[in-house]
Amino acid sequence: MEVARKQPDRGWIEVVVGSMYSGKSEELIRRLRRAQIARQKVQIFKPLIDDRYSADHIVSHSDMRIASENVRTSDELVAKVLPETEVVGIDEGQFFDQNLPAACNTLADRGKRVIVAGLDQDYLGRPFEPMPQLLAIAEYITKTLAICVVCGDPANHTQRLVASSDRVLVGASGMYEARCRHCFDPTLAAPNTTR
Ligand code: ADP
Ligand code: ZN
Repeated sequence: MEVARKQPDRGWIEVVVGSMYSGKSEELIRRLRRAQIARQKVQIFKPLIDDRYSADHIVSHSDMRIASENVRTSDELVAKVLPETEVVGIDEGQFFDQNLPAACNTLADRGKRVIVAGLDQDYLGRPFEPMPQLLAIAEYITKTLAICVVCGDPANHTQRLVASSDRVLVGASGMYEARCRHCFDPTLAAPNTTR
C-alpha cells in the first residue's frame, strides 16, 4: 500500500523573528535547504524594496545564500506560487504590505508550509507591521536573538546609528547594529540629536 507523503490540504505558517544579525535569514535558509533535500517543491520570495538589492538571492550576514524571486506586493507573491509548490519561504516580511498575513493564510489554507522571516521591531523598538499580525496567526514562532555589540549580552534590538526618522532606511553596512535592552538607545537615531 502506498502511503501519502503529505496530506494535500494540511498547511501551516512558521514565523522567525528577531533583531538584525539575530540569524533569521540563516534559520530561514536552513529550513528551506532541508525541504529541498527532502525533494519538496520550494519557492522563495523577498520584497523588492530597493533596486540595489534586486539580486536574485537571499543572503545572510554570514554569506549563506539561496536563490529567490523578487515580488512587489503580497498579492503578487500569492499569484506567483505554483499549485505544485509545497513550501513557501519569505524573507524581510516587515517590508511587505499589510496583506501579508492574509496572503500567508491563503497559502497555508491551500496546503502549503509557509515560512516567514522578519524584524519584529523597528529602529525605535516598536512592533513592525505586518509581523505582529503574522505572529498572532502563525502555528509556530521562533524568536532569535543577536549578540549585543556593546556588552555581549543577548540582543533583542536593532540600533540605528545614523540620524533618520524614516521607518524603512536601507543602505550601506554600518548603519545598524544589534544591542540588548540595556544598551539600546533610540535617541541615537533622532534627527535633532546633538552628539
Ligand atoms: P538576520 O537575518 O537576523 O539579520 P543573518 O542570518 O543574516 O541575520 O546573520 C546572522 C549572522 O550574522 C550570525 O551567524 C553571525 O555570523 C553574524 N553576526 C554579525 N554580527 C552579529 C551580532 N552582533 N550578533 C550575532 N551575529 C552576528
Ligand atoms: Zn548590551
